[in-house]
Amino acid sequence: MDTPHKGLDITTAKSSRLDQVDFDNLVFGKYYADHMMICDYKDGAWQTPQIMPYGPMEMEPSAKVFHYGQAVFEGMKAFKDADDKVWLFRPEDNFNRINISSKRMAIPEFPKEYFFDALNTLLKLDSEWIKKGDGNSLYIRPFAIGTEYGVSASPSNEYKFIIICCPAKAYYSTPVKVLISDHYSRSADGGVGYAKAAGNYGASFYPTNLAKEKGYQQVIWTDANTHEYLEEAGTMNVFFRIGDKLITAPTSDRILDGVTRKSIIDLAKHEGIDVEVRRIKVGEIVEAAKNNTLKEIFGTGTAATIAQISGFEQDGTFYDLPEVENPYNVKLKKMLQDIQYNRAQDPFDWRYAVETK
Ligand SMILES: *Cc1c(COP(=O)(O)O)cnc(C)c1O
Repeated sequence: MDTPHKGLDITTAKSSRLDQVDFDNLVFGKYYADHMMICDYKDGAWQTPQIMPYGPMEMEPSAKVFHYGQAVFEGMKAFKDADDKVWLFRPEDNFNRINISSKRMAIPEFPKEYFFDALNTLLKLDSEWIKKGDGNSLYIRPFAIGTEYGVSASPSNEYKFIIICCPAKAYYSTPVKVLISDHYSRSADGGVGYAKAAGNYGASFYPTNLAKEKGYQQVIWTDANTHEYLEEAGTMNVFFRIGDKLITAPTSDRILDGVTRKSIIDLAKHEGIDVEVRRIKVGEIVEAAKNNTLKEIFGTGTAATIAQISGFEQDGTFYDLPEVENPYNVKLKKMLQDIQYNRAQDPFDWRYAVETK
């Protein structure tokens, strides 16, 4: 990150595509905001970031990313409050994490000023794409890919760091049923599970499809060695409530350090909930389900915030969770969203004000 700050080159869109978007029937990922940022890495340095109209780009078919998967990404959201002010949630954590992911994938780290200048500029240009109201947000997808041509198996010498944005609305999903994996793994010791590497997702689609064929929406990943320890739920971190205690696995080589996960841990503690960050055995939740002390399971991630899990299958048996009064997942989700939408005090200093005027 020694690259001197050179500012941004900005080319604005001639007209907005905002009127093409059906916000009442919004399909996530279908529409992209008018502008994107592309920054090239070549000759050993990140070049001046370019803000330009969103659109297709040309690449060599031999570009490394297509062959060796040198690609990392992030997911974050911008929120608009009742006074039209725009806020990001803990964006430094996403910035730090993409560089942690990049390092693991031999991609050069991206400079902080470029990242924040680009974000602020994009959100200012496309602030109309951020809708007010509960659940509405602009999803921000930063990613980095190896673009050098040539199929030799070595790290790329050229990269693109890109930021695109798409409107998102509340993810009102019904609670999901999950299958606890006793064969497939998402990650392993010494691997790339802690990185938001594109290939982690690619590798999870097939086992997830098999779970879907059995009637489950997601897979609960277990440790690759023994399949005895619970690690993540699909592409989310996972929490278990046994009695009044909230339990989640510690982060590691294999478990992604989710921003939502650590925020929920802090909020739960703030609420006086007993939180244990420790390894948790499949056998422990099966036992707790059998003796009715397993009250809740939920996943955490930027996209859904909190996704409730209503039951799980383990070793051919399905365990249905009971309805509980005043569930933690509902309370914690509201607390988190109240901070994100600037409706509540921000005791942890998580909000980041975007200059859109
Ligand atoms: C992105 C991601 C999460 C959630 O991280 P957040 O920072 O909360 O969005 C959890 N697990 C995996 C595997 C992920 O890729």
